[in-house]
Amino acid sequence: MSHAKTSELLDEVTRLRRRVGELEQKHRRIDAAETPVTKGPVGVTSYQTGRDHSLLDALPCAVCECDLSGTILFANTTFAELHGYPQVELTGRYYADLVADERDRAACRAALEQLGAGKISSHTQELVHCRQDGKRVSVEVKWQCQRDASDAVTGLLAVVNEVSKTVTGGEQEIDLAGQYFRLVREMILVIDAEQKITLINPHGCRLLEAEESVILGMNWFDHFLPVSNREEVRTLFDQLMHGENRPVEFFENDIQTATGKVKRVAWHNSILRDDTDNIIGVLSVGIDITERLEDQQALRESRQIFQQISEHVNELLWVSSADLQKVYYVSPKYEDFWGQPCQSIYDDPHLWMERIHPDDRERLLQSMNRKIQGDFSETEFPQFRVVHPDGSFRWLEARSFPVYNEQQEVTRMVGIIEDITQRKQDEDAILRENEELEARVRRRTAELARKTAQLKALFQGLPDLVLVVDRRGEIINFNNRHPEYVLSDGDLTSGNKLWDLLPEEIRLPFTEAIQRVHIDRRRESFDYPLIIKGQQRWCRARVQPYLQDEILIIVEDISEQKFAEIELNRTHEKLSEAQRQAHIGSWEWNLIDDTLWWSDEVFRIFGVNPDSFALTYPAFLATVHPEDRALIDRSVAQTLEYDLPCSIEHRIILPDGAIRYVHERGFLKRNAAGEVVSMHGSAQDVTERYETAHKTQEYRDSLAHASRLAVMGELTAGISHELNQPLTAIANYSSAMKTRIEQGQDVSDLVQRIEALSHRSGDIVRRLKSMAEKRPQELMRFNILDSIRSTLQLIEYELRQKQIDVQLVSESRMSVVYADRVQIEQVLSNLFLNAMDAMSEIPVSRKLTIEVAPAGEFMVRVTVSDTGPGVPDEFVGQLFTPFTTTKEGGLGIGLSLSRSLVEASGGKICFSSKSDSGASFDVFLPCRKMDE
Ligand code: ADP
Repeated sequence: MSHAKTSELLDEVTRLRRRVGELEQKHRRIDAAETPVTKGPVGVTSYQTGRDHSLLDALPCAVCECDLSGTILFANTTFAELHGYPQVELTGRYYADLVADERDRAACRAALEQLGAGKISSHTQELVHCRQDGKRVSVEVKWQCQRDASDAVTGLLAVVNEVSKTVTGGEQEIDLAGQYFRLVREMILVIDAEQKITLINPHGCRLLEAEESVILGMNWFDHFLPVSNREEVRTLFDQLMHGENRPVEFFENDIQTATGKVKRVAWHNSILRDDTDNIIGVLSVGIDITERLEDQQALRESRQIFQQISEHVNELLWVSSADLQKVYYVSPKYEDFWGQPCQSIYDDPHLWMERIHPDDRERLLQSMNRKIQGDFSETEFPQFRVVHPDGSFRWLEARSFPVYNEQQEVTRMVGIIEDITQRKQDEDAILRENEELEARVRRRTAELARKTAQLKALFQGLPDLVLVVDRRGEIINFNNRHPEYVLSDGDLTSGNKLWDLLPEEIRLPFTEAIQRVHIDRRRESFDYPLIIKGQQRWCRARVQPYLQDEILIIVEDISEQKFAEIELNRTHEKLSEAQRQAHIGSWEWNLIDDTLWWSDEVFRIFGVNPDSFALTYPAFLATVHPEDRALIDRSVAQTLEYDLPCSIEHRIILPDGAIRYVHERGFLKRNAAGEVVSMHGSAQDVTERYETAHKTQEYRDSLAHASRLAVMGELTAGISHELNQPLTAIANYSSAMKTRIEQGQDVSDLVQRIEALSHRSGDIVRRLKSMAEKRPQELMRFNILDSIRSTLQLIEYELRQKQIDVQLVSESRMSVVYADRVQIEQVLSNLFLNAMDAMSEIPVSRKLTIEVAPAGEFMVRVTVSDTGPGVPDEFVGQLFTPFTTTKEGGLGIGLSLSRSLVEASGGKICFSSKSDSGASFDVFLPCRKMDE
């Protein structure tokens, strides 16, 4: 390979490097301009400024870069080590100050001036430098001007070598270039005119991912350019080789590594010529910018993301100068929060402050001042309100963060402002709710305290003994009322075991109850007798679960109740006995659930077993005689409908078939609301009474019969006269008829008379027959006036004999009564005969008056009056007493029998005073059947 000397190569590299740097700068500017920056400092990218010193830093020789005045801009690591300084401390120093001797220093200054002015391009001088530790070091400094594209001097480069090394200048140069070539972090590549790679440095091999030996001799374009641009670049190269165009100093293209990866490389090319100035190839320096491009892409994306975020988040983002005086950026939320356009804040950075609520402004300013003075201990600003022109306001909360540069100086402030109006309102609401809650809690606590106090007072004031024990019986609390209810003696003290204090006889029920309640958590109670102060008393213990593991015992004195119960039981037994003896049972019929309750006596009367008899109304009805069931149903229905007490007698059939008579009485019972809930009553076995009454009636009928016979005996004379008279007349008329028939005369008038007389005789005989007949009572409807007339007919003879005037007074011809006709006629004849007897003694004006008149709606009154001497006052009370008579030969049973007969027909007989002018008797008879 033919190429220039190594030192020249180094120069060339330096030049290319500078050029690459410049173009990069230019490229960055273009790049920055292309970036779609909106406004303000967000668009200002934080590119790393200054040169890329990595190349110099990697050099094994001491190199330092100075500006035109000789101030050190950069000293590489080797330079810093040679002088014993930290690298950064050398930056900014005047180079000549490193020179130890004054004379040398002056020479250095002179050389620097000349180099800086561009009067010389390079200069070499031997100097003694002073290290930081004071040691001296002899060096050879080789100055070189750095020039830009227009050949203007832009800086100075010093390559410093310790002169103690005994190497020749030429060797040193070669070695230096060789080292540079090996260590540089750019790809250095020479491509000859045949497109083959003739030189590549180690970094180039790493980039192309192949060994130097493999790469050398390879066709650059065939192996390391992607197909997409291969031919285009090859054509350009060929044109270059033929001198048809000038080399492009800087360009970027994609290359393809040996493993197929595509990388972006920034190139600078320079034409290599031989001694005869023929083009023999190209020297290219390439920098892998793949990552940088990716970084740029990432940065662009970051910017976009920031843009998106800042415009879409609910918070306002802002960027300002470090002193907060200039606003570089506010996100669109500003318009929402402040009600002003974003542009207004760029135009007048203080405008936003005008809308801050005056009460919040001072605190906000103080906080801003602290930050301006460099106190960033607090990121948050005090919360503040922004007042809109319509009077509404928003609560906002701002935070800010300082942005530092490399020198750790604050260059920007960035911040977030959040709308906390809702949060504030929520907080206020929560605060209010909290206050309300607290107030309620306070009220409730006070209420509880009051209730607790009340409960305590109640606990102490309870009339009963109250004990709280645990499950082991240990006394936890007690109200000390009547401890004698559980104790025979000893003290009720908290902590004592209850059963140690209990008398022997009640210890077991207490122990067992407490254990059961503890397990089942169900209340129970038991009664126990106790001798208190020498007296038998009864107590009731109620044991119930209380708080966890605790048991409440309430003991009350139930002696009164207990004694009353005992008394009640006794009374009940007595009542039962009384019922049994009187054959009266009591019953209750619950109309709500249709159930019956019978006392023991009712079961006895009905002859059924309380254990097997189903107590229902139908079951009861089944025991009743079939003929009486309708009567019972009717009575019950009437009682329920009219709420009238009922009283009925009915028959029942006992299981053995015997018939008994029962008198039932019943009435309705109502609850507090006035609703009928039940029917109560009694059932009395009246069989004996019924049978007695039956017998009485039989006796009465017999007596009446006997009495009638007696009356008939008394009337024999009259009756025989009464019978004789028509019979004699019939005989007379018969002989007269015979004569007339013989004479051929009409006898029809005589036949009529004989017929009438026969009827009269027949009536008398029939009457006598019915009087003589022995018959049971028979109630019927009949006209009382007929009965009066036929009775008078029987005694007509006596009446005439005794010259008694008879007067029958009645408003109507018909006066119906419902009674036993024969018995009533017997009563009438008694009364008439007594009247005749009474009047037989008086000399004149004998008058029998019979008056018939209605008495109320249901009765007919028959009054029998005479004009006899009347009844002495002292005798009036004995008139109806049997066997009292004032008559000689009198039986004294007439009136008493009459009363019995009238009452048997449902009527009444009484004496109505008429002492001075005779006696008067009233007979009341029902005019219809009782249940009609
Ligand atoms: P007796 O007629 O057999 O005496 P009564 O029982 O019929 O029995 O009458 C009892 C008594 O009442 C009579 O003895 C008589 O003294 C009195 N007495 C009854 N009717 C009259 C009357 N109309 N006037 C006065 N005294 C009468």
